[in-house]
Amino acid sequence: MRVAVPVPVRSGFDYRCEAPVAPGCRVLVPHGQRRLVGLVTELPAAGAVPAARLKSVEAVMDRAPLVSAPLLQLLLWAADYYQHPVGEVCKAALPGLLGTAPRTVSPSSDPESPSSDPESPFSPRKPPSPPLSAPQRTAVDEINRAAGGFAGFVLHGVTGSGKTEVYIAAAADALRRGRRALVLVPEIGLTPQIVARFQKSLGGAVGVFHSALRPAERRDTWRKLRGGFFHVALGTRSAVFAPVDKLGVIIVDEEHDSSYKQQEGFRYHARDLAVLRARLENVPVMLGSATPSLETLLNVRQKKYRALHLPARIGAAKLPRIALLDLRKLPLVDGLTPPLADAMEQRLRRGEQSLLFANRRGFAPVLLCTACGWQARCDSCDARLVLHGTRARNDKLACHHCGAGRAPPDLCPQCGAPELRRIGHGTQRLEESLRKRFPAAVVERIDRDSVRKRGALAEKLKRAQSGAANILVGTRMLGKGHDFPRLTLVGVVDVDRGFYSADFRALETQVQQLLQVAGRAGRAEAPGEVMIQTVFPDNPVLQLIARHDFNGFAEQALAERESAGFPPYRHFALLRAESETPGAALAFLAQVKKNAGGEGEGDGVALMDPVPSPMEKRRGRHRAQLLVQSPRRKPLGDFLRRLIRAAESRRAARKVRWSVDVDPMEML
Ligand code: ADP
Ligand code: ZN
Ligand code: ZN
Repeated sequence: MRVAVPVPVRSGFDYRCEAPVAPGCRVLVPHGQRRLVGLVTELPAAGAVPAARLKSVEAVMDRAPLVSAPLLQLLLWAADYYQHPVGEVCKAALPGLLGTAPRTVSPSSDPESPSSDPESPFSPRKPPSPPLSAPQRTAVDEINRAAGGFAGFVLHGVTGSGKTEVYIAAAADALRRGRRALVLVPEIGLTPQIVARFQKSLGGAVGVFHSALRPAERRDTWRKLRGGFFHVALGTRSAVFAPVDKLGVIIVDEEHDSSYKQQEGFRYHARDLAVLRARLENVPVMLGSATPSLETLLNVRQKKYRALHLPARIGAAKLPRIALLDLRKLPLVDGLTPPLADAMEQRLRRGEQSLLFANRRGFAPVLLCTACGWQARCDSCDARLVLHGTRARNDKLACHHCGAGRAPPDLCPQCGAPELRRIGHGTQRLEESLRKRFPAAVVERIDRDSVRKRGALAEKLKRAQSGAANILVGTRMLGKGHDFPRLTLVGVVDVDRGFYSADFRALETQVQQLLQVAGRAGRAEAPGEVMIQTVFPDNPVLQLIARHDFNGFAEQALAERESAGFPPYRHFALLRAESETPGAALAFLAQVKKNAGGEGEGDGVALMDPVPSPMEKRRGRHRAQLLVQSPRRKPLGDFLRRLIRAAESRRAARKVRWSVDVDPMEML
């Protein structure tokens, strides 16, 4: 039989087993010098090795499969599609259950078997929820009508249109039918509200799964889900593998969010796997967003998914007016133009909240010598160092890519000039100047630096929510699905940086982020206003944003992607390599390309030439990449296997680290 053993080898291993065992059970096997716990994936042996030559399984560890048949299929498919070692894929899906052998093996105790606990038949929500609006009702009815089979839906609803209520109603209906629900959200720490809303409506039926859980908590939640103790699995990316049987519906909130793609190791996309899981489980899946990804919109155009629209905000709430403030005509004081500063002052007088959105954390993104042009740069990365901290207390130059830090020099290290200029406004600098300008206001900064302490983020979000904070200043953490009822003004300090990037997806991400952060304003009765400071107020994309015309943007962006031959019209895969010596990674990729025999013949696969990565040096390593593209996925996968074999056989590979990224979300 075939066993997924958690080691970095792409295929499974064949073993002999006399005892009865089913796919999805764990077994203890000898592997090299070690004994490891692996997962049975197939019976009988798929390999051609005669049974007599196979090693024997030492023990069968589960009486019943740990993983259901559709979930096991999902794992095998994912290992194949993302070209990742199957044992590591299974290990990622089974927290703490595969790997090194336990000291004692006693299959009879079987701690993971489904509990027979009877604690919790589903009883509908206690506080009656508001009656659904007509478009919400239609959306829920459509999903209910599709129950019992696969169907893909896109819930495209503007910010504040009541998407979350639709998710809750669809999940509750699935529960009433005796089924369970799987709900994926981007980042639970950032949006504890959605968890609270599900829990309030569905009671104790919700099991929450996310990466900040301690291993024991994670395992406990996993076991309760598998045992059927919870009726809803709600979690971030890895929850797509949650052990939920009898699924009735799968929901992916903010489906465009890049956190669904794992950027290292097993580089899967949880939204895409959620759709596949829905197929395998034969249930409807709903992808929700105010700003759907171009991938998803193309699927709607091609009639693979059906779009459900929530065109307006709930009740009296209106979408905020968006104004573009021309930085060429308006003076800038401490990063703010007068109209934005005045609008903030108004909000303070009215007891309403403002949010300032900046792209950069830290004090100033650039430290520059105006005499000779020297800039503080990282020694290990192709990147500028960012100045952190205020001059009064412990300022520091920090690299946002490798974490290196050092004290800023007093004199220019190149020409000795005595004064270095701090250019641009990071969140710390904005916070400092806001405190000076509005001494009576409570200013709350929310970015990665200010929420390092456990619990800090939750505290800050609570103060934002309750209205105790008057001004919120922060990075894109503030652009997520928050619902701050007193927030009526959003200011975007530095929009232009986002328009320059080597990554073809940067514009899409930028537009999504702007509309999402704009969507925080005016969600309750008081109308909202958004002000975007820019030196390019005529930029056509900004003009579309100012009209909330996401569809207009998407149409244009899809046309551009199609003519450029980019995703979602073509599929991409990257072979990335990095080395300590300059040039070695590039040379390695050139060899791999040669050994793989160039392009796949006649099947549309195109293999580019290896190139240095846009950020060539990072963490002291020199990086290069090789792009493979194809209009169809199957030949791309076949060709990638060839490429990987070529890479694995290179002796130079010992000095070069390489990895494969199928459907890469960032090309940097
Ligand atoms: P979205 O997820 O689309 O941003 P939410 O589901 O958060 O929108 O809804 C926005 C606000 O409207 C929330 O405060 C929510 O409680 C409220 N809301 C949603 N649906 C209804 C409804 N049918 N009736 C009254 N209020 C609603
Ligand atoms: Zn100088
Ligand atoms: Zn660095």
